[in-house]
Amino acid sequence: MPDPFCSASTWERMDAQWPSHEQRTLTCTCVRAETHDVRTFVFSIRDGQLLSFEPGQFITVSVEIDGKEVSRCYTISSPPTRPYTLSITVKRTPGGVMSNWLHENMRAGVELKAFGPSGVFTPSSGPAAKSLYLSAGSGVTPLMSMTRAALDLGLNRDIVFIHSARTPVDIIFRNELASMCALSDKLRVVYVCEAPGSEPGWSGPVGRLGMDLLMEHVPDYRDREVFICGPGGYMDASRKMLVEGGHDPARYHQESFNFAQTVECTEEPVAYPGAEPAGQAGYTVQLARSGRSFSMDGSQTVLVAARKAGVPMPSSCSQGMCGTCKTKVLEGTVDMKHNGGIRPREIDKGMRLMCCSRPTSNLVLDL
Ligand SMILES: Cc1cc2nc3c(=O)[nH]c(=O)nc-3n(C[C@H](O)[C@H](O)[C@H](O)COP(=O)(O)OP(=O)(O)OC[C@H]3O[C@@H](n4cnc5c(N)ncnc54)[C@H](O)[C@@H]3O)c2cc1C
Repeated sequence: MPDPFCSASTWERMDAQWPSHEQRTLTCTCVRAETHDVRTFVFSIRDGQLLSFEPGQFITVSVEIDGKEVSRCYTISSPPTRPYTLSITVKRTPGGVMSNWLHENMRAGVELKAFGPSGVFTPSSGPAAKSLYLSAGSGVTPLMSMTRAALDLGLNRDIVFIHSARTPVDIIFRNELASMCALSDKLRVVYVCEAPGSEPGWSGPVGRLGMDLLMEHVPDYRDREVFICGPGGYMDASRKMLVEGGHDPARYHQESFNFAQTVECTEEPVAYPGAEPAGQAGYTVQLARSGRSFSMDGSQTVLVAARKAGVPMPSSCSQGMCGTCKTKVLEGTVDMKHNGGIRPREIDKGMRLMCCSRPTSNLVLDL
């Protein structure tokens, strides 16, 4: 029998679909302090609509700050098993525009806009009976959604969750994870702190995640599907450690919160093998729903050309990873070079990522 936790269809509620290209209004219902610099913002959708998504997916939040529209991705930290509200858990980034705005302005009743759930860092990307969740800092959020969903389904899944934090006071969801462990004898949570900080009685591991600690707490790590999210250096070191320890890289899944700088509309057309020289082949791109259209050549991505033409198109990473710009191509063909932000079954259904697709004919898009 297929494992419901690892099946995308478990989370697909037809009455609660929110396509990733559709922007909706979220209303904040409450704000919770998780640590000194992390808050959870709970939202509902207008008219009490329900929400369906896969645990581990993110939304793209847009806010007007100082007269400019700013968009950032935030993982849905709440589980899809609680479809009446949706939460994001945000760590303040020093000097950061959106995270500080949210901390300072979000309170019950405040609205913001968001594009629907997206992303492939979900249990269905690596079905397995036993999991190892590794996170550091705010990277805990997708794994928290997965853990909450696993418990809500009542499956008593075998999960080892190792979370790294600077000090004990920086551990996000500490009390809730402890309560969840009390509810499931197969969920084990280990915190690793770089330093005891202001909690001198800290009795957990101090330092960084290393092979000794892994062997002590998860001697069977090679048998587990690994899901990891955290800063780049932490993920690189963990991946190297796992590979050197004999873990199968095909069973390793990671989510990065740091997209490299996004492509700006001033970008020069890139030389692209097989593409028509810039300015020669003129293709027309029509947006079926909005009725808008623009012209472009085959050297640019559809996203870059849309921005140049002043046509709004949802996007975030611009590197074929996040899936925010996933769009159905109703007519025409494109050449897409993605980086994992779209699934084969979505490609089969005619979806493409506009940030990494270049037209090879005129296009009609479902936008
Ligand atoms: C898929 C995904 C999921 C995510 N989920 C979460 C989550 O669950 N929780 C969470 O907290 N975050 C999450 N993030 C990260 C989040 O999207 C933001 O990147 C983060 O909140 C910082 O945004 P910001 O606007 O506050 O910072 P930004 O304004 O983007 O600034 C980031 C850094 O760059 C510096 N900076 C900004 N502008 C300049 C400049 N001109 N010159 C030099 N330095 C500059 C800032 O000082 C800061 O240190 C996620 C990201 C992705 C891609």
